[in-house]
Amino acid sequence: MPQEPKKRHSRARQGKRRASIRLSAVKSFSCPNCGSPVAPHTVCRNCGFYKGKEVVAIKVKEKKAE
Ligand SMILES: [Zn+2]
Repeated sequence: MPQEPKKRHSRARQGKRRASIRLSAVKSFSCPNCGSPVAPHTVCRNCGFYKGKEVVAIKVKEKKAE
């Protein structure tokens, strides 16, 4: 048998607990190479750069140019 709470928490207590539960705004920063908005810890989708190095070869950019 799993353990059960002995007494029920009041609505106020429930509300206090849930008051801090919320989504935080997504932090955005721009790519140092091309300046497009990128999520942190993510390879840039526009130029394929991460930490100043080209990590992913860009096929998408070539298609856009054509
Ligand atoms: Zn970039």
